[in-house]
Amino acid sequence: MKLKKKYQSRLNNLFVYETKDGYHVESVFYRGNTLCISTQVGCPVGCRFCASGSKGFFRNLSSEEIKLQFSLVEKILPIKGIAIAGIGEPAANAEAVLESLTFFKEKGLKVTITTTGFPHAGFKQLLSSEHDGVTFSIHGFTSEVRKKLFKLDFSFQKAISTFITHIEPLSRTKRKKYQIGYLLLKDVNDSEKELKKLAEFAAKYRLTVMLMMYNPVETSPFEPVSGEKYEKCFKFLRKHGVRVTLSNRFRTDPLGGCGTLTIARN
Ligand code: SF4
Repeated sequence: MKLKKKYQSRLNNLFVYETKDGYHVESVFYRGNTLCISTQVGCPVGCRFCASGSKGFFRNLSSEEIKLQFSLVEKILPIKGIAIAGIGEPAANAEAVLESLTFFKEKGLKVTITTTGFPHAGFKQLLSSEHDGVTFSIHGFTSEVRKKLFKLDFSFQKAISTFITHIEPLSRTKRKKYQIGYLLLKDVNDSEKELKKLAEFAAKYRLTVMLMMYNPVETSPFEPVSGEKYEKCFKFLRKHGVRVTLSNRFRTDPLGGCGTLTIARN
């Protein structure tokens, strides 16, 4: 795999790599110290708000290809952390992801993972790995909302129970490494009914919610909520005793990465 192109915005650097069989995958350097890397060519989960899975799933990246995204960029930028949150569902390529994670940890890097919890066996492996943080991307609690969000029909109940089984015995300090990812989409998952379910779940298990503003992509039928609505949802969760974090500055940049990374083939 080789580095093919680099784009730069005010906040982020986007890298395009070409694999030996002619696919292009991407990674993003953001926050001045973190590289968000891809784990698959395309994605089997196919979240309808995300460009990465819009063309379907082609193949897993090997651990070499995952590690190379870092090795090719570390020569030019100061990487302190790896976010396994680019193109692909890491739990669906768990073996290669875990091998790469060990490599990154040996280099002294902080490694975080973002996952939808599919498939369950891979999710379990990721939860138990030597990570520095897992974001469980939920985005919706009722089946009515989840059907709108995910093309893949996977058991949310199973993912939730795998997650709870893992975090319940953990001490308060260790549980801080786990959080819920919730992407606010206008008129889809921003109702009081959905937010109440999110608040109840997060408060019950003392989990932080990363409340995200949407960076719209052409392939998506969804729109972001207004700044005012975002503020309202944020306050609603806080009022229900939930710790909420924001990650919007880098996400909504034109090269923000989250949900905007795409694949191509020569
Ligand atoms: S958000 Fe993640 S899991 Fe969903 S389609 Fe995009 S890459 Fe796949």
